[in-house]
Amino acid sequence: MAKDKKFVSSITDMEVDFPQWYTDVVKKAELVDYSSVRGCMVIKPYGYAIWELIQKELDRRFKETGHENVYMPMFIPESLLQKEKDHVEGFAPEVAWVTHGGENKLTERLCVRPTSETLFCEHYSNIIQSHRDLPKLYNQWCSVVRWEKTTRPFLRTMEFLWQEGHTAHATAEEAQEETIKMLNVYSDFCNDILAIPVVKGEKTAKERFAGAKATYTIESLMHDGKALQSGTSHNFGDGFAHAFDIQYTDKENKLQYVHQTSWGMTTRLIGAIIMVHGDNSGLVLPPAVAPIQVVIVPVAQQKPGVLDKAYELKERLANIARVKVDDTDRSPGWKFSEYEMKGVPVRLEVGPKDIENNQVVLARRDTGEKTVISMDELETKVKELIDDIQKNLLEKARASRDSKTYVAKNMEEFEKTINETPGFIKAMWCGDQVCEDAIKEKTAATSRCIPFEQEELSDTCVCCGKKAKHMVYWGRAY
Ligand SMILES: [Zn+2]
Repeated sequence: MAKDKKFVSSITDMEVDFPQWYTDVVKKAELVDYSSVRGCMVIKPYGYAIWELIQKELDRRFKETGHENVYMPMFIPESLLQKEKDHVEGFAPEVAWVTHGGENKLTERLCVRPTSETLFCEHYSNIIQSHRDLPKLYNQWCSVVRWEKTTRPFLRTMEFLWQEGHTAHATAEEAQEETIKMLNVYSDFCNDILAIPVVKGEKTAKERFAGAKATYTIESLMHDGKALQSGTSHNFGDGFAHAFDIQYTDKENKLQYVHQTSWGMTTRLIGAIIMVHGDNSGLVLPPAVAPIQVVIVPVAQQKPGVLDKAYELKERLANIARVKVDDTDRSPGWKFSEYEMKGVPVRLEVGPKDIENNQVVLARRDTGEKTVISMDELETKVKELIDDIQKNLLEKARASRDSKTYVAKNMEEFEKTINETPGFIKAMWCGDQVCEDAIKEKTAATSRCIPFEQEELSDTCVCCGKKAKHMVYWGRAY
């Protein structure tokens, strides 16, 4: 037992050192490992299985909304990247360049894609001719590279996995509709699958994606009161279409420029899951993205009939949940800690006594609560429990976020709140970037979004006191 205890206590409490807690969970739950490549991570099987579940669920939603998957090259010729001025300026500082092929210097440098707008645009200019070719609703699953200075597993890595949707439409209205539709797909996904509540809104001009006319975002709040941008959806208008000459003939046979969007979600989401649901015993996974939803731990498994019963229960649950029997020769105590650390939603214990009484013990990871149920009710009870954990995690996350959402009417309140009780700060803003910059300078908080759900907290800007235009969510962010 002493050893078991050591296993759990070897993660730092989040209240003591949140970044260290995060690193401990990432390592001890076996999500990633470090490699010799600076700023890159090895995603281990358990971490990758979570990503696969995220991917599967998002991909289904993309296809249901009419999108098709494609694959683009990973290299972008320098001349192509430079076609859209704002875009290249935005990404140039963090681009990795390929300058040689073998021993030979290339005549034109190739960048390793930091994002693929330019490649999609070039392709669209080749394949779009008529209004009959529209809309084009493409998505790509791939990795991208951004030369980041400081990195952290999942939250910011030089290479990360993501999906990027790129669409082309006949009209500005259709492009706007698509931009919002995909933002809603993202927010529903976070809510229903990740059990993470989000604030939906528009980014300020300063925080907009390079080359976009409008950027929309979903913002979530972590345990430590820091915000995490969890997904973005951009409306490009016809800016890229002009730069890349993407035109089609309309029904009147006139040439028109297309209107485009792009939207992306990344492996960052795994960081969000860790920091929204995790606790001092490790990871807590929402059942919908848990690679193992129920772990069966046989107690006194050397006794006759125990392991057979464990396998039998697994069979019975096969159509209801992702189930694993841990029949290794580790002690039950060690196994309890291990699956707690890994955030497995339900632990099922079964031993000789339980078999004798026709019962099993169910322990839930989110609350630690244990119940004894009759084996006759196994399927219904396990299903109910899984649904309840998923629901409870969302409610808990919402309550935690709401309790860390504050209002500031002036800069004194703003600074006091962000320093003493970090979280989302709702405050009025005049719309001037000078104030946005001043707030960042003074508090290290950035504008997270101008939420769709506006409130009138006061008439005046929190920073300059002039007439306010919007209520903004502010926060320190990952
Ligand atoms: Zn102002």
